[in-house]
Amino acid sequence: SVSERTYIMVKTVLTLVLFQPDGVQRGLVGNIISRFEQRGFKLVALKLVHATPEHLEKHYADLKGKPFFPSLIKYMASGPVVGMVWEGLDAVKTGRAMLGATNPLASAPGTIRGDFALAVGRNICHGSDSVENAEKEIQLWFPEGIVQYTADQAKWIFE
Ligand code: UDP
Ligand code: MG
Repeated sequence: SVSERTYIMVKTVLTLVLFQPDGVQRGLVGNIISRFEQRGFKLVALKLVHATPEHLEKHYADLKGKPFFPSLIKYMASGPVVGMVWEGLDAVKTGRAMLGATNPLASAPGTIRGDFALAVGRNICHGSDSVENAEKEIQLWFPEGIVQYTADQAKWIFE
């Protein structure tokens, strides 16, 4: 009928962003959450945890065998991390762009790593690198699932 319509049909994806212990210790959590909020992403899960080495080995399974793998796991297990899931247009790719390059010295100013980090092993944040890996990582960090709700500002973000 004429009174039925489609209201904001936008194809979005989810990405996992994880603050490493340096991001938490340096008090950057709020700033980085703000960046994702301001960009128009929707927060659908959030958690502060002190992860175990076993859990982190699953998270970084793709890097097993790299020379820095043992120190990365030890470092990541040294303090609390914050996991979050953001939903938005092309959120995996855009989230990675917001993080900057893996080596902060190669990260452009304006990116998270380009604004806050210098060392590759203290680069503040993890972001999923593909939609497939995002799905795996979200399942690993949030086995209970994400939160379903309507973000009321969507009509001002999407066209
Ligand atoms: N890392 C490191 N030394 C290196 C490369 C990477 O300590 O030489 C750490 C760094 O914290 C990085 C994480 O391992 O963020 C995962 O590496 P990856 O190649 O997946 O980079 P990212 O996807 O985080 O940009
Ligand atoms: Mg990676």
